[in-house]
Amino acid sequence: MAQQQVLRLGLGLNIQRSDGRIHSAVVSGLNEAQQSITVEWFEGGETKGKEVEVETVLALNENMLPPSDWAGFEQYQPPKPAPPVQPPAQSRKNVSVPLAQKQNFPAQTPADPSKRKSQCVKEIDKIKKNREERRQRVNQNNGGGDIDPSNPNWEFAQMIEDYRHELDASPVSFANQIVRDHRICVCVRKRPINKKEKKAKTVDVVTLPSLESMTVHEPKLKVDLTKFLENHNFHFDYTFDENIDNATVYKFTAQPIIRTIFDGGFATCFAYGQTGSGKTHTMGGDFTGKEQDFSAGIYAMAARDVFDLLRSTHYSQLDLKVSCSFFEIYGGKVYDLLAKRAKRRVLEDGKSVVNVVDLKETPVLSVNSVLNAIKDGSAVRTSGQTSANAHSSRSHAVFQIILRTTRGKLHGKFSLIDLAGNERGADTSSANRATRLEGAEINKSLLALKECIRAMSMKAMHIPFRASKLTQVLRDSFIGEKARTCMIATCAPGQNSVECTLNTLRYADRVKELGPGSKPGKPAPPLPDIENNDNDLAYMHQSLRSQGEEEEDPEMYNFHQAVDMLQEAQDMLVDEHQQCISENKEYLKQEEQILQRVDQDVDYDIEDYARALDVILQRKINRLKTMQDKLNKVRSTLNKEEEVSKTLRRPAKKR
Ligand code: ADP
Ligand code: MG
Repeated sequence: MAQQQVLRLGLGLNIQRSDGRIHSAVVSGLNEAQQSITVEWFEGGETKGKEVEVETVLALNENMLPPSDWAGFEQYQPPKPAPPVQPPAQSRKNVSVPLAQKQNFPAQTPADPSKRKSQCVKEIDKIKKNREERRQRVNQNNGGGDIDPSNPNWEFAQMIEDYRHELDASPVSFANQIVRDHRICVCVRKRPINKKEKKAKTVDVVTLPSLESMTVHEPKLKVDLTKFLENHNFHFDYTFDENIDNATVYKFTAQPIIRTIFDGGFATCFAYGQTGSGKTHTMGGDFTGKEQDFSAGIYAMAARDVFDLLRSTHYSQLDLKVSCSFFEIYGGKVYDLLAKRAKRRVLEDGKSVVNVVDLKETPVLSVNSVLNAIKDGSAVRTSGQTSANAHSSRSHAVFQIILRTTRGKLHGKFSLIDLAGNERGADTSSANRATRLEGAEINKSLLALKECIRAMSMKAMHIPFRASKLTQVLRDSFIGEKARTCMIATCAPGQNSVECTLNTLRYADRVKELGPGSKPGKPAPPLPDIENNDNDLAYMHQSLRSQGEEEEDPEMYNFHQAVDMLQEAQDMLVDEHQQCISENKEYLKQEEQILQRVDQDVDYDIEDYARALDVILQRKINRLKTMQDKLNKVRSTLNKEEEVSKTLRRPAKKR
């Protein structure tokens, strides 16, 4: 207590900001009742201020403050007995503060009302008044939750507002932020609360304390039904709030990696998150109703820069040609969006070069023709759907800008991917087979993606790209010194999305934790033994287990394997059937010919006829037998899948 006496108005000391930074400030008010002080500092051309606990200040300034018996200044005398103390600001982030405690502020009446109000009390009154005003504003924004007892969430809204209030008020902006060069960049973007959510009085549970951090306030109830918040903090390369536009997101994510494709490398940008969190808005452009402005999306912005660089003095001598392709991956199959959704095969040659056979590559000479391709492909993607998200949430859309030399040799490729909604990966436990298979494929591909980026960041010998079709077609994105990747994890701000938002951030965090900005002192979990590299699915699951991924269900590997086998068996049967049909057409012609001879040739030899017919029949029978075997194989894999799906302990965590 004695040490508290050293605090006085005008004293310079250190304070800690919510993002961990420590800097100097001046004491501008002493709040005796609450054992807190107000401090001010000058930043960015203006004076900023906040309230901090005495305890926190003392802990931070141990060696700076003068001894308590140093005479000559106004002394701080805490009242006795001491009122309840709020948790120190430093531990605020991880402490769940019950509302009751938060509201337990003692009245701010001066000891002697006849005395002139001290500077300190005025300061506190000002803070109180500001807080009240801010609360009112927030309540208005949140649909008036505070004084609306019919809204069960108003207390949570209040707690979140209090939390935000305790953060620095200093505005920070991306305007002066330096764009950094990352081999793997992971950032998150929060979309604004929408009209529907506003109407439903949904509480915004996502706070961005700085340009690199994000806090999710998870509303919780104690056993005695006290409401409290569990605050989860995350750090990323950048965090974009609801006011940040696509152009800024682009500037810090996709734009910095474009050059790599001119330098002969591969650039990749993923939008990852739950359905409705803003992936298509980010990649494809803003929506006005159902109309999308494609020119305002990252696809188009990247195309614009590609053409600018193409004409730049540095790169124009390369004489490169630009083309683009657009396809989607659904249920482990590739569909060409620039060719009426034609199904395409994915083949890998002996050198592991992956090729999407006959994928349409449209040559483009201007940004406008790129925009047209995006527009056409997007229309094919959503055609016949009840809503824009009905199908797109279940498939990955891959838009590629390709650079080739005049001889047609591949020079570089920029892949921009609007991933399937990660919540779909949780459908693996559905009773409906189609939904279950869809979920399994999404779950598997998103896990494989994480593992491939992880292997890339660790410069691993082996990249398990064969674990999913998505990672297989993007193989080049994970390989080589020149490869650059960015991931934009999008999240919805509402209380009802909190679980999905946390899953999104945890996934992104795992990708980031492995990147160059990984947390010090936290070594990345090892990659599996190289022995398993002939089976990427097994490799991937082994790796997940070694990371102690809590969501890793021991049966999930068997399930993913069963799904892979089913898909393979189905592909083989369909191929066989198609081949059988085209062969049948040929046999039909031959049969007609031999019959004609029977009818018209007077010298026909019954033995010749029988021999020719026998050959045809034998071939047909063999073909039908093979087809039947393949059909039986499909049946058995269907049963296997069904069986294994029942052994899954619980639904896969949403990804
Ligand atoms: P997803 O592709 O992830 O399913 P969408 O991009 O379709 O989600 O976004 C869902 C809705 O939210 C759309 O109406 C979209 O316009 C809107 N939206 C998403 N992100 C933003 C944003 N940053 N600013 C304004 N509106 C947004
Ligand atoms: Mg979408």
